[in-house]
Amino acid sequence: MGNKSFADLTWLARFLDQTPGDEQEGGPSRQVPGVCWSRVKPTPTPNPTLRLWSEEIGEKIGIKKQGDSILGGSELVDGMDPYAQRYGGHQFGNWARQLGDGRAITLGEVDTGNEVIELQLKGSGSTPYSRFSDGKAVLRSSIREFLCSEAMFHLGVPTTRALSLVTTGEDVVRDIMYDGRPAPEPGAIVCRTAPSFIRFGSFQIHTMTGDHETLQTLAEYTVKHHFPEHNLDNDDAIINWLNQIGEETALMIAHWMRVGFVHGVMNTDNMSIHGLTIDYGPYGWLEDFDPDWTPNTTDAGRKRYRYGNQPQIGAWNYARLLEAIGPLFEDPEKLYQALENYYEKFEFHNNKMWSQKLGLDEFRKADEALVKELISILGKVETDMTIFFRLLSEIDEPNISSLEDAFYDYENAPKEEWNVWLNSWWERVDRSPDRESMKRANPKYVLRNWMAQLAIDAAEKEDYSVCEELFELLKNPYDEQPEFEEKWFKKRPEWARNRVGCSMLSCSS
Ligand code: AMP
Ligand code: MG
Repeated sequence: MGNKSFADLTWLARFLDQTPGDEQEGGPSRQVPGVCWSRVKPTPTPNPTLRLWSEEIGEKIGIKKQGDSILGGSELVDGMDPYAQRYGGHQFGNWARQLGDGRAITLGEVDTGNEVIELQLKGSGSTPYSRFSDGKAVLRSSIREFLCSEAMFHLGVPTTRALSLVTTGEDVVRDIMYDGRPAPEPGAIVCRTAPSFIRFGSFQIHTMTGDHETLQTLAEYTVKHHFPEHNLDNDDAIINWLNQIGEETALMIAHWMRVGFVHGVMNTDNMSIHGLTIDYGPYGWLEDFDPDWTPNTTDAGRKRYRYGNQPQIGAWNYARLLEAIGPLFEDPEKLYQALENYYEKFEFHNNKMWSQKLGLDEFRKADEALVKELISILGKVETDMTIFFRLLSEIDEPNISSLEDAFYDYENAPKEEWNVWLNSWWERVDRSPDRESMKRANPKYVLRNWMAQLAIDAAEKEDYSVCEELFELLKNPYDEQPEFEEKWFKKRPEWARNRVGCSMLSCSS
């Protein structure tokens, strides 16, 4: 039962015990060659105050609601052995060399008896990997991570999760739009959880520096603890392991496409080895269906991480992981098989999701044209993705007037084209789409950008009621919840169209 204190838990430090680490504890930002981690303690904060708590994760770990000072980085208990992980990564397509946990510190792993869960504080001060920044996080980005990671879980999207959000009682200075206007903002720390926070970039750093010994040790460690059904005994065995990572990554991205999530910064250091959505930063949700939309202002020029490009970036990132594992192979040519497998698995899962979104009995070759046509019409005028698919799940006749609420400007919607498409869909499903399947694939509620912003605006005035309401609402995103419909099942309000934090997100967090 969930009634223990942190000190009663069974803490492990497998990563520290079994992979090479830094000889120095803490210390300034620096290069730390040949290691997987550096020991470093969270920086104590002046007034840590617990603001949000996930009962579900508390229950999983086995603890009762507690821990302002522990979760605020000001206290450690016996068994915790905190460290920052070293990794590298490709950022926006370029090799960025050593990155690492610059604003995250793992407290330790908890063995619950059922599973081992890693607990990590995000925003608890600098580490040897903080480079030029302070290792802290602001309230707005912490709320976005807490609410979104929990909402994604309930949407059925693989994700890291969040236990708590603590405000620190100190201000953190950020230049939110990078326009030379730095301002103080309230600081906060999220405690997030995952089986591990090992990333594609965790392997890349060793290969890119020619350190094949550490690469081998990390790969053995990862397989032993996180993929115990696999081994690295020969090329085929390694391919099997990589295929699993590839499929889990493809599945995660197919889910993103299904719910309209845009990660915004799919650098290889932000790709979990477990196929979990990780590192919630300048992410966003599609409101009007625009495959070219990216929430990340840093990406506004090239739009590398736009919604419609995510499956392709997943492949690109996966190819970087394959390259990183290459030195373990006798015959690295075999790696191409794994990349092909990624594409096949993405297509399989993506087709399955489209058949669920459209209430089809199965996905046939001819359905590809139906989906393609749908995507093309959806992009013609501003159309709300979530409302469109939810209303489509309920429609009684193939007429666009039943979907009026999904349009920002219904007058100018291409109604004839819509009716042609709706009729061909209606025939395809024999006038009886699988509505239950549609409602399980087309959420009614997602964390729209402006919804998160309203929660942030209130919290910055010490009112956490909007956070709590959204946290509850998004535990059942596929349910009707009529009491919330008027407030939260609606298109983006005009005030949010060009507001920072809604239509444009910054990496500055
Ligand atoms: P991201 O793409 O946001 O996941 O971060 C890229 C890299 O920058 C990672 O190595 C982070 O640890 C680091 N980083 C981001 N924000 C901060 C910060 N406030 N202080 C120190 N390091 C940071
Ligand atoms: Mg990151």
